[in-house]
Amino acid sequence: MNDAQLLDEPGRLAALARYDVLDTPREDTFDKITALVRDILDVPICVVSLVDRDRQWFKSIQGLDASETPRDIAFCSHTIQKREPMLVPDATADSRFASNPLVTGDPGIRSYAGVPLPTPDGFNLGSLCVIDTRPRSFSDAQVQMLSQFAGLVVNELELRTIAQRDFLTGAATRRAFVDAAEKEVDRLKRYGRVSSLLLLDIDHFKRINDEFGHPSGDEVLKAVAEACRAALRPSDMLGRLGGEEFGILLPEIDGMAARAVAERLRNLISCLRFDWAPDLRVTASFGAAPLRRGQSADTWIRITDEALYKAKRDGRDRTVCSEEPGLHAVAA
Ligand code: GH3
Ligand code: MG
Ligand code: MG
Repeated sequence: MNDAQLLDEPGRLAALARYDVLDTPREDTFDKITALVRDILDVPICVVSLVDRDRQWFKSIQGLDASETPRDIAFCSHTIQKREPMLVPDATADSRFASNPLVTGDPGIRSYAGVPLPTPDGFNLGSLCVIDTRPRSFSDAQVQMLSQFAGLVVNELELRTIAQRDFLTGAATRRAFVDAAEKEVDRLKRYGRVSSLLLLDIDHFKRINDEFGHPSGDEVLKAVAEACRAALRPSDMLGRLGGEEFGILLPEIDGMAARAVAERLRNLISCLRFDWAPDLRVTASFGAAPLRRGQSADTWIRITDEALYKAKRDGRDRTVCSEEPGLHAVAA
């Protein structure tokens, strides 16, 4: 493990962003770990804390009703600066923490033990920590146990990302993508925020596989995903919905603008070139649809798929928007 990573704060934040876990709902797996640690170590508070740019955010917390605190007062901000556990037997006797508002005020922290949560590439995302309101020292065996549970937390974070990311292209899996589409439906319902969906399907992809082999087909898939990602905003989401079909969620984008995004991506894809087949030209067909009030995520995806299907039937390498005249008559 390279300790340069401990000093690389932008790298650490980028690693944290890749896990896509901040502000997600509570999850049973993490709550079970914190409940177990709290009981085994007989402490009132146990937390999985992830240290974001300006705050620590709690993926799981036992014994306190809080979801985050500012980073500058977080004990865990200290824990992530080291590889080893951080132990504070009495915060009132520790110059770093004696005047910390979490010590002098609520919840009245007196003792703390935290173990960093490193990614496989060495970035500390946060910590698994226990907190007591009385001074206490933790035995080596207890610290070791805490470290083992921290290992389980890291494993769970990894599994979460594996379930959400397509291995080949790094795009979201269908399941994660549909979940995100459902969040957009919710955002429209609650806050009236618009968003649009694109579906793209690579044209005659089977021919690429047949002519150049499956591994070359994989390279094309990766290149298409990369071209899309490079052209999208961080808030947009790319998902791999099937073999050579991708979805793109565009929050805050209406139907007209979505069509323009699709056309830009279509153009980028047609410009892709491959060393192993200099003459190969890859094209893709797009369906685009703004989310309409009252639509479920499933309906939204189906309507976009109908637009994509029309783009295929009209000759491929084009974008069809769901609101174009005649589409519903065709799709019905
Ligand atoms: P169309 O223009 O109508 O979309 O034709 P197409 O050939 O792109 O569509 P079709 O559905 O006939 O073929 C899709 C092919 O994608 C078939 C399948 O073997 C291939 N495929 C699916 N997943 C993968 C993958 O992960 N890697 C590679 N290399 N090929 C894949
Ligand atoms: Mg295809
Ligand atoms: Mg297809």
